[in-house]
Amino acid sequence: MKYVFVTGGVMSGLGKGVTAASIGRILKSHGLDVTAVKVDPYLNIDPGTMSPYQHGEVYVLKDGSEVDLDLGNYERFLNVELTGDHNITTGKVYRSVIERERAGDYLGKTVQIIPHVTDEIKSEIRSAVEDEADVAIVEIGGTVGDIESMPYLEAIRQMRNELPPEDFLLVHVTLVPVLSVVGEQKTKPTQHSVSELRETGLAPDVIVGRCNARLEEETKEKIALFCDVTVEAVWSAHDVEEIYEVPLVLNEEGALEYLERRLDLSLDEDLSGWAEMVESVKGAEEELRVAVVGKYVQLEDSYHSIVESLKHAGAVCGASLEILWVDAERIEGTLSGEDEYDYEEILEEADGVLVPGGFGSRGSGGKIEAIRYARESGKPFLGLCLGFQLAVIEFARNVLGLDGAHSTELEPGTPEPVIDVLPEQAEVDDMGGTMRLGDQRTIVMPGSLANDLYGSSEVVERHRHRYEVNPRYIAQLEIAGMKFTGKDETARRMEILELEGHPFFVGTQYHPEFTSRPGKPNPVFLGFVSALGG
Ligand code: GLN
Repeated sequence: MKYVFVTGGVMSGLGKGVTAASIGRILKSHGLDVTAVKVDPYLNIDPGTMSPYQHGEVYVLKDGSEVDLDLGNYERFLNVELTGDHNITTGKVYRSVIERERAGDYLGKTVQIIPHVTDEIKSEIRSAVEDEADVAIVEIGGTVGDIESMPYLEAIRQMRNELPPEDFLLVHVTLVPVLSVVGEQKTKPTQHSVSELRETGLAPDVIVGRCNARLEEETKEKIALFCDVTVEAVWSAHDVEEIYEVPLVLNEEGALEYLERRLDLSLDEDLSGWAEMVESVKGAEEELRVAVVGKYVQLEDSYHSIVESLKHAGAVCGASLEILWVDAERIEGTLSGEDEYDYEEILEEADGVLVPGGFGSRGSGGKIEAIRYARESGKPFLGLCLGFQLAVIEFARNVLGLDGAHSTELEPGTPEPVIDVLPEQAEVDDMGGTMRLGDQRTIVMPGSLANDLYGSSEVVERHRHRYEVNPRYIAQLEIAGMKFTGKDETARRMEILELEGHPFFVGTQYHPEFTSRPGKPNPVFLGFVSALGG
C-alpha cells in the first residue's frame, strides 16, 4: 500500500478535496486501485449533527454513515463506494481512546496524545484502507498550523518513518495569490505555510499552488527554491471552469511522470476516457435552467451533490444546466407581505423546479409554494427527501383540501399529520447517526414512470430521514392522483411519488444525488433533466 497524504496551507476552502481526488483519478486512470480517506480534525463524531452552514452538505454513504462532502468528491472522481471508516474525525479517535482507557486496555499507563492518540490515528488510517487498493489518498482537513491538526501531522510524521520512501508522498496544497495592482503571483504565503509544516517535522514532496491563473515558471522556481522541492514537484492548480478538469490540469503539469518515478510505479492506460467525459460536460450545447429552491442557497456547497448530479445528467443529454437559486425563506416573507421577492419570475424563467432535502420549518412554506407552482404549471418537478414530503403536504392541502396538512417535524400539533415520524424513530432521543440511513431497497411498480427511468423493478438508494408519509393518508392521496410507485419491501414505507397527468412530477424519499457519477448519472436525475428539454 502506498500512501499519498494531502495537507493544506494558508487557508481553507482551496479545493483540497478536489485536488486529492484528482491525484487519485490520475493514478486510477492509469490502472491502479485507489481508495481515499478524509481526516476531519473536529470533535464531532461525524458532520451529521452539523448545519450545512458549518460544513456544507452532509454526504451519506451506502453503509449509512454521514460524512464530509469530500467523500462525495472521492466517490465521484474515483468511482468507488466508501464506508464510514474512510472519514476519521477527532471525535471518533478520542472516543475510542477513552473507551479503551475505561476498559483498562492501557495497562496502568498515562494515556497521552503521543503515543496513544497518534497510534489510534495510524491504526484507523491503516485499517480503513488495508487490502483495499494499491494507493490510499489521505487528506487532512483544516490548515497546517491549526492546533486541531497537530496530532494528525505527528501521526503522518511517524508513518513516514515506518514506510519505505517509495510508499510515502506528501502533497501540500497552498494558495498563490495574485496582487492585482501589479498582477504578480506571490509566493510568501506558501513559504510561510511550508515553514509551518516543517516545524512539525514534515517536508512536502509536492506543492500544489492554487491560483486564479496558471503558475508562471518564475513562480514555480521561486517556490521550489524557498520550499526545498524540485521544480517538477511544483504543480499549478489554476482555476478551471469545470472541477472534473483538475486531473487533466495536474497531468499537464507532469503529475503522472512525477508520481510514477517517485512512487516507483509502472503505469499503463490513460486519462482519455476521463477527458472525453470532461468534454461532454463542457461541450454541452443546449442551455437549460433549473430552479433549486432551498434554505442554504447562499452556500452552494450545501447542495454540492445535487449540483454535480444535474451536471452528470446534463452531460448525457447534451445540455449545460444553469442553476437559479431560489431562497425559500424569501418566498415565505413575500407571502406574508414582509418582503418583495419576485420568485414567480424566477420560477417562470426556469425549465424545471427542484426542491432538495432539509430539516426544520424555516423556509418550508416557500418550498411548498414553489411545488404548487410546478404542479399547476406543468413544469418538471423533482423533490428529494424533504422535497418529497413537502410535495405530499402541498397536494394534501391544495388538492385534497386538507388545509391544516403538515409534517409533525415542522408543526408537531398539526391536525392533519400527512407526514409523520417513522414508528421506529418515535422513541429515539439521540440526534447523531440515528435516522433511517444509507442503502435501502425500493420495489418499483411495473408500468410506472419510475420503472421506465430505472428500467428495473428493484432499486437500492441512500436514505437519511426520520419522517415518512403517514400510511393513514395514502389511499386518499392515491385516489386523487398522487401515486406512490416505489415502496420499501414491506410496502408500508413510501419511497417514490408521481403525479398522474403531469409531464414530470417525481419525488423520492431517498437521495438519488449520492449515487450519481460523471458519465453515469442517476436515472431519476437523467429523467428530470431529459424532461426539462420539453
Ligand atoms: N427532515 C426530514 C426527515 O427527517 C427530511 C430529511 C432530509 O431531507 N434529509 O424525514
